Amino acid sequence: APGEPTSRNVLDLRRTALAGVQEHYYDDPPRIERGWRQHLSDLDGRTYLDMVNNVASIGHAHPRLTAAAGRQWDLLNTNSRFNYRAVADFARRLADLLPDPLDTVFLVNSGSEAVDLALRLAQTFTRRQDVVCVAEAYHGWTMGSDAISTSVADNPNALATRPPWVHTVLAPNTFRGRFRGEDAGARYVEDARRVIGEAVRSGRPPAAFVCEALYGNAGGVPLPDGYLRGVYEAVREAGGLCVADEVQVGYGRLGHHFWGFEQQGVTPDIVTIAKAMGNGHPLGAVITRRDVAEEFSANGYFFSSAGGSPVSCAVGMTVLDVIEDEGLQENAVTTGGHLRRRLEKLATDHPIIGAVHGMGLYLGVELVRDRDTLEPATEETAAICERMLELGVIVQPTGDHLNVLKIKPPLCLTAESADFFADTLARTLRDGW
Ligand code: PMP
Repeated sequence: APGEPTSRNVLDLRRTALAGVQEHYYDDPPRIERGWRQHLSDLDGRTYLDMVNNVASIGHAHPRLTAAAGRQWDLLNTNSRFNYRAVADFARRLADLLPDPLDTVFLVNSGSEAVDLALRLAQTFTRRQDVVCVAEAYHGWTMGSDAISTSVADNPNALATRPPWVHTVLAPNTFRGRFRGEDAGARYVEDARRVIGEAVRSGRPPAAFVCEALYGNAGGVPLPDGYLRGVYEAVREAGGLCVADEVQVGYGRLGHHFWGFEQQGVTPDIVTIAKAMGNGHPLGAVITRRDVAEEFSANGYFFSSAGGSPVSCAVGMTVLDVIEDEGLQENAVTTGGHLRRRLEKLATDHPIIGAVHGMGLYLGVELVRDRDTLEPATEETAAICERMLELGVIVQPTGDHLNVLKIKPPLCLTAESADFFADTLARTLRDGW
């Protein structure tokens, strides 16, 4: 329409009032104003396949979600101190999704808040301050969650600027980490045992160990078998609690498992969730054991004005209904499996693909200049993402070297869309970028 700002105008406007740290995708991003299922549209009428959006897990603009949220807004939205049914039902439903003894829910508004609260729960329960976390991970931006986030892709000074209560173990990355062979899992556990042991000896025993069950920030690299089992054992021996950050990997995305920790065969003491839970509506939760929650209630303060509001609970319930009714977890198995096979096939033709990581609809295509040295193809990855945008696909780099195409589309991805992605990547790799 005449007078309608262009993509560039909006970008300039964005820069005038919004803090520079609230980044956007691409140097010259299209102006995205509409979404539908796994697609996004810009103002010029171009449609893109959205391969990065793990927040819009049930798809963009889902009519059931819009209707449920609208209905609840029409009836009531308020803080969570009032006695309404939605919060009771939603907390019960979440608790029922988790194994015993994880039966007590705190509702918040984001993943960062959930991780922060998880740290406070563990610190209060153990009467300790220290936390053990994994190098190269991201857990959020709040004071506590930022302290345990060491991804240098987000913050180049991450490892050098940790507060003294944070202890980092090696990134258990079997593709490019320090240990890669058959015994890598055991050696990463050994490293974690050493770090925990040193913390205990120096009078700083850990309150908690925090880890994602699939290495999200590195592009979905699975943890080596037995890793969480081994580290959980060491942490518990030292009197600490185990926190699984399921903000990215939980909620059905991995396909065969609803929760990431299940594929490692462990049960955490505290689980943090967000993102997919609200399909973009600000929603997060911490689920823990009753005794951990009670210790906190007796000794700490928590109240979130919007956390667990009627609208948030209606949204959370509807997202779970849709995941179930539309078989989205099963779709992560079938469509994710199909996509993975297509990408693996592509890897046989293109040596730049060093590995295809991940499972379900959480995949990563790691691009390298040399399959022996694993030199990261960082500039190539950025250029490939730019070219894919021109060809109608939104995909972004991740990992500490920004050389992994992160693939975490809405869970309603179809086989046709998976093929479109694989074909477009094939075309880009074949014709150049
Ligand atoms: N934990 C993990 C594993 C995450 O990936 C993120 C977000 N990228 C967070 C926590 C923080 O979540 P939020 O952005 O909702 O605060």
